[in-house]
Amino acid sequence: MKKRFILPLFTLSFVLCLLCIHTILYAQDFSRKCELPDSLSSPLDFFHTKIFSSWSFPDIDKDGQSPCGYVYSAGHEGTDIGIKRKEMKDGVNVYAAADGVVLWAFDGKYDRCGSTNDHPDCADPKRKLSANLNEGNTVCTGYGPYCKDGGQGCYWCFAGGNLVVIKHDASNQYFATRYDHLKKDSITVKPGQRVSAGEKIGEVGSSGRSTGPHLHFEVWGKTFYDPIDMWKPIAQRNSKFFPDTDSRTVEGKAARKLREQGVIGGFADGGFHGDELVTRAQAMKFLLRGRDFAIGNLKNNGKYSDLPNTAWFTKYIMKAVNKGFVQGYSDGSFHPDDPVLTADFLKMLTKTFALREDLPHGYTDVTEDDWFDRYAGVAQKYRLFPHRKNFVLEPQKKLTRNEMAVAIYQVMKLEDFFIDNN
Ligand SMILES: [Zn+2]
Repeated sequence: MKKRFILPLFTLSFVLCLLCIHTILYAQDFSRKCELPDSLSSPLDFFHTKIFSSWSFPDIDKDGQSPCGYVYSAGHEGTDIGIKRKEMKDGVNVYAAADGVVLWAFDGKYDRCGSTNDHPDCADPKRKLSANLNEGNTVCTGYGPYCKDGGQGCYWCFAGGNLVVIKHDASNQYFATRYDHLKKDSITVKPGQRVSAGEKIGEVGSSGRSTGPHLHFEVWGKTFYDPIDMWKPIAQRNSKFFPDTDSRTVEGKAARKLREQGVIGGFADGGFHGDELVTRAQAMKFLLRGRDFAIGNLKNNGKYSDLPNTAWFTKYIMKAVNKGFVQGYSDGSFHPDDPVLTADFLKMLTKTFALREDLPHGYTDVTEDDWFDRYAGVAQKYRLFPHRKNFVLEPQKKLTRNEMAVAIYQVMKLEDFFIDNN
């Protein structure tokens, strides 16, 4: 007869965070061929793309390949995103990818593990660890209701040094997310604490089994330690490629490129509708996507009178407001559904992409006394509005989707924000 009470369900897993190797080769490998599903927001501000020195995608089926790009090691279960040591020192925030409750958090391990040092916190433990122990690069949870089948009496061990695991709300299609190798004493959350998507939980480090600063980001599908590949190829979504655009025109080329890069989307009919006007809310969303900020579920909470917490645009606008990219009107409203005017868009664009202000310009309809004078030079320098007359800005003109696409395209192209998909 089976004595169930004698044998706790030992579930010991040294989840291998295999290591990022920092070479320029891999840096070329990241592309926006893939994106996170809507229910997960970025654990890092992906606009930092330029500082990420390596990307490695999950390989759950262990064939050594991913449709999204480079795989460091067959069977690796997370996404490894490497940064440089200098950025680690300056601090690169890690954010919760979805709402939930912190399940486990471990901190205090040495955080500069690398192939050239032999700090005891970087070494694999010399014995098999059991619940509540931690040794070397590995930390273990206590016994608890953590069994994969939902039962009691299981524990988990992680070779991730300083790490956080967040269990997501039942409404989320993903059970949990895991963030490894964090910087020592950077973790800002405690077990049991509620967190929101986009909330800072720590900073990127190189603790645990790691050869250099990187985030190991892992998503559990249905239960404890059930790693899955959550990246979705953009190509699948893009099977209809804006049939109402013509790639021989500047606007058609811009719209298709931005679509390919995941910056803009189309309508239910698959079209781009380039002649329609862009609202203030839409403009802010597309700009933020161009920079690939982690958005999170930011709420308005009464700051503006016309931004309901339930509206699709509120999180984008609040992100932009918090970053200082845009502001509402003095009467406490934001007017999210108003068409965006050229002058307002120029400010949003300049701020979002951190472009230089006060550039010289020759516009005859902009004077030094205009509040937007400091942003007008950007339009000239980047040739944002090729269909407008030379030296006429038309600051009060409402922007069409075509014009917006060309403007964002010009800045992303000239400032090197496009990710090479080849
Ligand atoms: Zn990893």
